[in-house]
Amino acid sequence: MGSIALTALLERYRALKDAIAAAAQEAGRDSASVELLAVSKMHPAEPVAELLAAGHRHFGENRVQEAAGKYPALRETYPDLCLHLIGPLQTNKVRDAVALFDVIETLDRPKLAAALSKEMALTGRRIPCLIEVNIGAEPQKAGIAPEEAEDFLARCRGDWQLDIAGLMCIPPAGEDPAPHFRRLAALAADLGLTDLSMGMSGDYREAIACGATRIRVGTALFGRRD
Ligand SMILES: *Cc1c(COP(=O)(O)O)cnc(C)c1O
Repeated sequence: MGSIALTALLERYRALKDAIAAAAQEAGRDSASVELLAVSKMHPAEPVAELLAAGHRHFGENRVQEAAGKYPALRETYPDLCLHLIGPLQTNKVRDAVALFDVIETLDRPKLAAALSKEMALTGRRIPCLIEVNIGAEPQKAGIAPEEAEDFLARCRGDWQLDIAGLMCIPPAGEDPAPHFRRLAALAADLGLTDLSMGMSGDYREAIACGATRIRVGTALFGRRD
């Protein structure tokens, strides 16, 4: 039986899946409880197609425009692919975003919640959202303040009829991420939310140890972005 050499991308994919399984096991968790989001921003469609052919389905993109140029063609071949928006969303892009994405992970302000609500009511397309929490309370950073998350969640569900699946965060750069991950996990538990999107190439192991149910990995999979 001749063995087929894996491409570098598929080798990194396998290695990453193994590392995720090991981190989950170490944390006493089922590796199936950690979903890998392959973050394809600033990479072309070809490596995405390669991962799709290998059976991967969950992808993340930062920008509506970039995703619009890449994903509709891929979706024709793989209608079950699941595309997550993980970058900031402007209200004038809400229409395109709701049409294109399957999950919005960056719900970070009331104005956006209202716009998403309006668009979903108009189109009948309801997609789950995650509330982005400014877990390090950084003044320049997007996200709901941790102490405002409970009120915002109630408004999202009550005033805007949104399907809120969980919380997402990007911890402050240059700090130990673990305390921030633990705080996001505790906040989600307080709010009765189970979906926790946290951890990237540099810190996904720590995030898994702290309870991440979704890690967002770009560089460790697709290589450096220019
Ligand atoms: C780019 C990005 C990632 C992936 O980062 P890597 O370090 O390349 O793994 C994850 N989350 C968000 C919000 C991003 O913008």
